Amino acid sequence: SAAALEATLDHEQVVVRSGRRTGLPVMIAVHSTRLGPAVGGVRIARYASPADAFVDCLRLSRGMTYKAAAVGNGTGGGKAVVPLLPSGPQQLDEALRDGLLMDLAEVVHELDGAYHVAPDVGSSTADMLRIRRRTPYVGGYSTTENGLGATTFGTAAGVEHAMLATAEHLWGTADLHGRDVVVVGFGAVGQELTRRLVAAGAKVRATDIDLTRRPAAETAGAQWVELDGAYTLETQILAPCALGGVFTSELAAALRCRAVVGSANNQLATDEVAADLAKAGIVWAPDFVANAGGVMYGTGVELHHLSPEQSRDRLKSIQSTTAEILRQSDEEATTTLAAANRIAERALAAAGR
Ligand code: NAD
Repeated sequence: SAAALEATLDHEQVVVRSGRRTGLPVMIAVHSTRLGPAVGGVRIARYASPADAFVDCLRLSRGMTYKAAAVGNGTGGGKAVVPLLPSGPQQLDEALRDGLLMDLAEVVHELDGAYHVAPDVGSSTADMLRIRRRTPYVGGYSTTENGLGATTFGTAAGVEHAMLATAEHLWGTADLHGRDVVVVGFGAVGQELTRRLVAAGAKVRATDIDLTRRPAAETAGAQWVELDGAYTLETQILAPCALGGVFTSELAAALRCRAVVGSANNQLATDEVAADLAKAGIVWAPDFVANAGGVMYGTGVELHHLSPEQSRDRLKSIQSTTAEILRQSDEEATTTLAAANRIAERALAAAGR
């Protein structure tokens, strides 16, 4: 709607193009380059209408500005969306996908470094390697020594740092040994997070809508639980690592955990749920800080040209940033969401135009 658009549109530039090769729409929104080049993934996903896709692109690119600013990543915020619309193809065969990636790469290249594309829902590390044949303004293509994608590795490590800060805030020590964690969503990040938590001595229960994930979860040292009711299990830390939008006011009131710290994007159904969680006495580590490790690690290596060790080291700032957010939210009796937004807005204001 016009109101949704008006509420979202405060971007530096937005490009909507019909791809030269495929005729499919390519949308790129550069929200802010105030703190560095805009970085954000490309979402290749089904949308009911071009307007829905456009508003999502604007909203997600602004989210990337806040994420990068809150953790001091030295990058700005942008996003690309390639919507699969009811009127167009619903499946991408190899040739169409390749054409689409080249269409996208072309638009990215024309932006001349203002925007760096990376993987997101519907796009992969392998896709980024293909885009890299056409433009250098791409990230999230590298892997770690153990073959894990840079973003997955960084995201899982970052969530662990956010959990350490939360543990210190709640129980006085930044230690996960003996802590009880429920991981919902045993995908790329959930699996790596579980492995790390088990190594840190935590007792992990895990679940996924995809039951074929069970053996991998058990191999990683987690106890498999049923998805039904998993969010409301009695536990110390709940780690949402599947989809966004799961926490509603009703669910917030039904939770039996002390903290929610996970990788899922846009965890709260609406911003107001942050207050519901606070009211229920649950510490919520804002998702855009807890899951910033992927972009931090990837851009550290690929954009800031740090060594993998240096890049890993900068993920520790997620712990101090989370600690600062939790402290400010306590001291000023605001939600953790408001505290995190304020840290980001101050960083943006300090950078000026
Ligand atoms: P993934 O696709 O590898 O894993 C997601 C898992 O969630 C899958 O195993 C899927 O079966 C499961 N799932 C889907 N619907 C579910 C449901 N209703 N209940 C339980 N499980 C369900 O994705 P990922 O890369 O591991 O990312 C997980 C989350 O973290 C996503 O929300 C993603 O946007 C977010 N995130 C990921 C990264 C990253 O670096 N990969 C960075 C930032 C945020």
